[in-house]
Formats: sequence, structure tokens, C-alpha cells
Amino acid sequence: MIASGAGEDARLHLKTPASVDIFTRILTHGPLGRIDVGRQTGFSQAAVTKTVAPLVAQGIIAVDQQAPAGPSAGRPVHPLHVVPSARVVLGLKVNADEVIGVATGMTATILHSVHRPLRSTSPAEVTEAVAVVAEQLADRLGPAVERLIGVGVSVSGDVDSSAGVVRDSPLLGWRDVDLAHPLTARLGVPVQVENDVRALTVAEHWFGVGRDSASFAVVTIGSGIGCGLYLNGDVVSGAYGVAGELGHLPLASPDALCVCGRYGCVEAVASSAAVLRAVRDSTGDRALGLADAAALARAGVPGAVAAFDRAGSAIGAALAAVANLTGPDTVLVAGEGMQDFELYQPSLRRAFEAHAFGAAAGCRLITRAHTFEDWARGAAAAVIRAAVRQDFSPA
Ligand SMILES: [Zn+2]
Repeated sequence: MIASGAGEDARLHLKTPASVDIFTRILTHGPLGRIDVGRQTGFSQAAVTKTVAPLVAQGIIAVDQQAPAGPSAGRPVHPLHVVPSARVVLGLKVNADEVIGVATGMTATILHSVHRPLRSTSPAEVTEAVAVVAEQLADRLGPAVERLIGVGVSVSGDVDSSAGVVRDSPLLGWRDVDLAHPLTARLGVPVQVENDVRALTVAEHWFGVGRDSASFAVVTIGSGIGCGLYLNGDVVSGAYGVAGELGHLPLASPDALCVCGRYGCVEAVASSAAVLRAVRDSTGDRALGLADAAALARAGVPGAVAAFDRAGSAIGAALAAVANLTGPDTVLVAGEGMQDFELYQPSLRRAFEAHAFGAAAGCRLITRAHTFEDWARGAAAAVIRAAVRQDFSPA
């Protein structure tokens, strides 16, 4: 158990769809005056006041007493913002070799982080490691743990977050693993299990590049090639929870075998394991690590340069496919592979420009440095969203 009383008393009690919309706007765009909140959400100032009053009383929303200078000077505006420390959440990311956890406040700013290596990816080992990391983070939080809303866990692969079950994760070698129920029983707080890229997309939607975008995509490069889509006002899950599986679009050469068992997938040439394999094959050095492969490419060794080029081309073609299919105004490229991005970049941009069609080519391609903590922060953002929308699952 993390803390008696955590979870239950930390719920946000947003009772109506209007109050969810109003709170979300203040959380993601505050500080905002009441008039602006009303204008931006389409609700009356009376509705804003009714939603905000109990939250101010509970210390979740604060009213800035200083009238700002500028165009509104002379009329006190009393902007509203969500108090970051009013609630805390934990977010954890399961990798093949370690669990990374962070504690954040309501605006997903990281307060603490913990790493724990995994001896194996067996469900029992991973469940235990996730629980231990969550308990260590709870210890670090001290008395603030009483304001803990819940724990998010993100995993790569096909995740049924409504059931709390990982349906299929090639990275972990899992099929139909129930992560939410054993963790909820052990920790005593709500646990939200999410696909890692979808969780990252939620974080970007509320606290990052997507704050002011109606349609954007997050493409991640690294151990896998992932894609999260936010289109026309919502994060896309698809009918089966599998959407944006960019890594398995058949855009690579048809003889490249993918970890999923199919041929020609983007990941078959563009995952970090595929790049490393290609560099090892070209040099004959089986002991090379990814950092060595990147160093060889930086030094201009042809086989290594070609491996990163091939990966960049496949990723660029995949980015163009996303732009052509969904028309986002922005595509953010992130993921742990960003540390070597300059090696992928020339061929990636070339392939994107060659294949992006018409107006889709106008979409902004932006990049972001990325750490493993960012994945965990995504899991925390998924919890914040579940708490605001009150759709923790499984309930
Ligand atoms: Zn595949």
C-alpha cells in the first residue's frame, strides 16, 4: 500500500461535462481570466464561477489577486490557475531492461524520478518492479503522498487501457497480461495502464506542442517507431486500440524481417536494434553497441552512414504517410533515438519532402530532445487526464 487515504480523498469531483471542460482549460492554458475561460470553452461566466468556487475552496484552483498590466489594466481580471502541487501523480514506463518512474504535480512537471533495472520481462518481475518504484516515489513525496491521485503505467504495444490489460507487447514478449488489477490491489490507488506513445501524446496535447493545435502527430524513434495521433479534438485510439502503428507500415525493403514477424515494416530497418544490426553486419563486429554504431556513422564509416540513412528514409516516408493520411498541422519527432537525430535527419527530411502530398507538405516537422523520463511523464499525464475526466479504468 502506498498510503491509506491516498486516491479516494484526492479525487477531483468534477461533476458535469461543463466543469470538466472548464477545469481542463484552466489547467492547460491558465492563468486565465474568467471571461477568457468562458469565451474559450463556450460556457457562461456563471458556469465558470460555479465550477471554480468549490475548487478554489479546496485549494486546487488559485485566484491571482494582482491585476495585470497591459490592455486589461484598470479592470481587475483575477486570473485563475490550477495549483501544481494541489495533487500529485506517479507515472512509470516499462522498458525491456528497466522501469523508470516519475512523480509529478498537476501540470506534469517532474518532481522526483527513480530507475530500477529489470532482471527479466516476466509479468511477475515487471509487476514487482513497478510496485517497488511506485513505493519509492511515494516515499520521496513524503506527506504530499496524501494528495496522490493515481499511478500510470505505460508499455509499448497493444494496450487495452479500459481493461487495464496489455494485449500484445513484442518488446516485453507479453500477450494478455493484466497489469492494472494486481497493481491496484498492491498499491491501493487507481492504476491507469496506457500505450506509451498514446500517453506521450496526451502529455503533448495538454502540456506541450498540442496545447494550441487542433491536429498533431507525435512520432517516436528509438527501440520502436511509434506514432500518436491527436485529430480534430481527441487522441485517436481506434476501434481496437491499435492506431498509428507507423512502425509496421510496409515502407521498407520487402526482404527486411521485422520483430513482429512480417516483412518490409519501417521498424525492420529503422528501429535502433535494426540500425545496430545493419552496422554490425557491415563491419563484422558483433560486439558493437548503439553508441559505437553512432560514433562510426559520425566518423563517416560508409556502412554505418548507410544504416542510419536507410532508417531515416523509412522514417521520413512514414512521416509523409502520416501527413498525407491525417493532415496534422504539426508533427513532433521525439523518442530516445533523438540523441542521434542528426544521423537520421538528412535522409528523413529528404524522404518526407519527396512523399508529402500537396498541402500536407506544409505541416511543421519539429524535433524535441527526449529522455526516458519523458516517457514516464507521459504515463503521469494519462493519469491526470483520467482523473479530470473521471474515467479511470478499470474502475
Ligand atoms: Zn512489423
